[in-house]
Amino acid sequence: MNLDDELSKIKGVGPKTAEKLAAAGFATVGDLVEFLPRAYEDFSRVSKISELKPAKVTIRARAESVNTRPVRRGMRVTTAVMVDDSGKVQAVWFNQPYRETQLKSGAEFFLSGEFGFRAGRYQLTSPSAEAVKDLPVQTGRILPIYPAVKGLKPALTRSVLGKLRPLITMLPETLPAQIVARERLMSRADAMLGLHFPESAEQADAARERLAFEELFELLLAARLNKRENSKLSGFRIPFDQPKIKQFVGDLPFVLTGAQRRALWDILCDFENPSPMNRLLQGDVGSGKTVVAGAAGFQAVLAGFQAAIMAPTEILASQHADTLGRLLEPYGVNVALLTSSVKGAARAELLERIADGTASVVVGTHALFQPAVKFHKLGFVVIDEQHRFGVKQRQALLAKSHAGAMPHLLAMTATPIPRSLQLTLFGDLDNSILNELPRGRQPIVTKIYSPNRRAELYEKIREQLTLGRQAYVITPLIEENGQSDKKSVEATFKQIKRVFDRPVIASAAKQSSETEPGLPRRTNSPRRDKSGYAVGLLHGRQTPAEKEKVMRDFAAGKIDILVATTVVEVGVDVPNASVVVIENADQFGLAQLHQLRGRVGRGEHQSYCFLVTSDSSAPTRRLREIEKSGDGFYLAEVDLKLRGPGEIYGARQHGELNLQIASLADTKLIARAARAADEFIATGADLAKYPTLDKNIQKYQRLTTLN
Ligand code: ADP
Ligand code: MG
Repeated sequence: MNLDDELSKIKGVGPKTAEKLAAAGFATVGDLVEFLPRAYEDFSRVSKISELKPAKVTIRARAESVNTRPVRRGMRVTTAVMVDDSGKVQAVWFNQPYRETQLKSGAEFFLSGEFGFRAGRYQLTSPSAEAVKDLPVQTGRILPIYPAVKGLKPALTRSVLGKLRPLITMLPETLPAQIVARERLMSRADAMLGLHFPESAEQADAARERLAFEELFELLLAARLNKRENSKLSGFRIPFDQPKIKQFVGDLPFVLTGAQRRALWDILCDFENPSPMNRLLQGDVGSGKTVVAGAAGFQAVLAGFQAAIMAPTEILASQHADTLGRLLEPYGVNVALLTSSVKGAARAELLERIADGTASVVVGTHALFQPAVKFHKLGFVVIDEQHRFGVKQRQALLAKSHAGAMPHLLAMTATPIPRSLQLTLFGDLDNSILNELPRGRQPIVTKIYSPNRRAELYEKIREQLTLGRQAYVITPLIEENGQSDKKSVEATFKQIKRVFDRPVIASAAKQSSETEPGLPRRTNSPRRDKSGYAVGLLHGRQTPAEKEKVMRDFAAGKIDILVATTVVEVGVDVPNASVVVIENADQFGLAQLHQLRGRVGRGEHQSYCFLVTSDSSAPTRRLREIEKSGDGFYLAEVDLKLRGPGEIYGARQHGELNLQIASLADTKLIARAARAADEFIATGADLAKYPTLDKNIQKYQRLTTLN
């Protein structure tokens, strides 16, 4: 038998069982061998009958006598007297008449179950019972607990795996022998045995470590090989014009932070390499990534190249186009905006300017990479608010660039990546980190509010509006979904208008708006009225043009309070806004809350973030963490612990991260695996000699570069 065989080849597995296994997703013997326990239950501690105490216990005994009798309608009780060399105990089963035949065989059994006082005496109630001579699947040893799979009883999984034990004993080694030896790892066969049939907890732990090491080693090696492949691509050399860049930086209305300078330096040095840059710029919200990208774009243009900047939303794209226009147009750099709302003749004309190179910096959404868009000489690509650039997008890019060379790539993200993930998931990217906020920023005051303190909350907003500041009110849902505790953006909009879009008389200010239905309503005009504040509405169902208008009005100060869904989550920059209220805050993830909060505190004003809980129950751990800390890097670590990497980086949905065993929080093991991967490459080891390793690495290589 071998790992590729169908399950029906296993001796003792009939067609019915094979069918059940197939339905559970197991096609081959190998699939089942790789199906690893998620936990263990220790039934290896066998008690002497004379020493039993009320608890869940396991004994090893024979049946002295067994009988089954009816007790009442439809109920039959099987009673057995079990003996070992220390004493006797009664075991009872209900409606399990087969127990009688089983126990009467005279064999020795493991029995596991609850020992306690029932029906007038101490007894074992409904214990499992398995013959000692078989490999027990329910008791008598440390039992592996397999992940629940529909239609598959744990005992069946264990019993089929028991039949595969001889095969597992002979599994070939998959890692290079020198690594196994130097890292003092179990052999693969021993590790698999240790996981499926552990004799001690220590053995299971060591087995787990070996397999975890292997997974991390593969992942890290894949990242390194990716990086090496990238360095083999040809790119464009863009010389670093230090005097011009110094002048540009000196002309900025603010002083760059040390972190911004370092990041810009990293990028401009990469530009000088003949191989394309593949760099990730991580910066906490508000750390000033845009200007770094802008300065680098300026350098690319100075050297005669075009730069493309891709944003995730139209709002952000048009905002970037504005910002970059302001930064670069004084130097004669032409900045263009291409989104799907640029249509007809205007679009044709724009495409022409991109194709002949008159548009030097092109900002847009994913529309940038459609086939119709042809660049004259694209040398630098920035992708905002993304962790990486997928293989497909890179290929699309390559097709756009001239002379078959790859433009320099810069991905920018405001969701910091914990260090452990940095090495593993993102090990193929170079990194720059903006871990410093511009001078003069004050920490954002964050506070949790329960909904019954809304009046107080509105007062806080009003204080800021009176000072001339602006506010965001964020809601998670687009439409009323019938649940009264979930506020929709429309309902919130109406309520905020009722509260703020009218004259305020000192004594009335404290009243809750909901108690005053008779007040005159105003229209949804984003025009400030002497007697109240202008309230705007922004959500995903509006047309791009509508959204853009609202955003522009807000940025221009024509709207005082913007009620919005998470459309504003990423990147939007209105420095005069100083309050963000997040309704039903418990429905957001940690990273998302931090992003939303980052919409304020972007200027010199003291800013506030108010998190309104869905109900009055105690705030969740997430909310308490966000209230406590303003540090995105710290919050990313917490998020990783609370949710796991798959959830955060969307990796699981894309099948990207299929780590079964290794924990990306295990920094020690990651460091060991990283060292081994470095050595594997340094010694010029040949992957072709390790077919399993090779296969897995190819899988990871594909996956770690997909979005
Ligand atoms: P993010 O990193 O979140 O994308 P932005 O690039 O939008 O941040 O910058 C946030 C705000 O900070 C912008 O208004 C920008 O003009 C401003 N800014 C950027 N760098 C500095 C700096 N060094 N000093 C002061 N303000 C800065
Ligand atoms: Mg940004």
